[in-house]
Amino acid sequence: MQLILMGPPAAGKGTHAAELVKKFNIPQISTGDMFRAAVKEGTELGKKAAECMKSGALVPDEVTVGIVKERLAKPDCSNGFILDGFPRTVEQADALEKILSDSGKKLDKVLNIHVPAEDLIERAVGRRICKTCGATYHVKFNPSKKDSVCDNCGGELYQRADDNADTMKNRLSVYEASTRPLIEYYKKLGKYTEIDGRQPIGKVTEDLVKVLSSVKN
Ligand code: ADP
Ligand code: AMP
Repeated sequence: MQLILMGPPAAGKGTHAAELVKKFNIPQISTGDMFRAAVKEGTELGKKAAECMKSGALVPDEVTVGIVKERLAKPDCSNGFILDGFPRTVEQADALEKILSDSGKKLDKVLNIHVPAEDLIERAVGRRICKTCGATYHVKFNPSKKDSVCDNCGGELYQRADDNADTMKNRLSVYEASTRPLIEYYKKLGKYTEIDGRQPIGKVTEDLVKVLSSVKN
């Protein structure tokens, strides 16, 4: 099953992708996670991505498309994948269509987690992530049992450098200008379904799974 999980920054893509990974046993491909790992490792890719990420701008399309193309060619993607945070521009969406058609694949579904702009800054600023296993929490909406400690693995929780109100405002305007047009793009391809992301986490997952149950493998 080849899926895109779309939505504005901090809508809940990563949170729900993690649930869908368990349920459908296909990998989550998060370009944001790949860039953060590269920044941490200090690779050439990390150096290219760091400045853009700090300000909330997008990493250039050719860089982003390159890493996704490489990742999708890995054997664990042969039965499907969940793209999280990619594509974010029409150019990236066009490139994805080409990557898939060149390998005889197609997208099955594009799921958009809809959350209104006024909720997104609070979601981002309260987000906490485990340094060890990457699990995502929220100080108010999905707190860990023990402050700053991951429930799953006991790892330390941290706050992303770009999860502050200022950078988030920029990320939201970038979303409006560059990523929102993809809603029409995928509607036209007849693959688009919108999910109400304002509901509690468990209900959003339930709605996503319900839509995906009707997708043929
Ligand atoms: P994205 O991957 O889209 O940037 P995340 O999955 O990291 O977003 O979620 C952003 C923040 O919002 C996290 O702190 C997460 O715990 C929280 N969150 C996710 N889904 C919901 C929800 N349905 N209701 C309330 N908070 C949520
Ligand atoms: P995310 O983890 O999805 O919130 O992404 C964090 C940051 O990584 C974004 O603000 C961008 O700077 C960069 N990024 C992630 N995915 C993409 C993408 N598909 N295209 C360009 N930049 C991206």
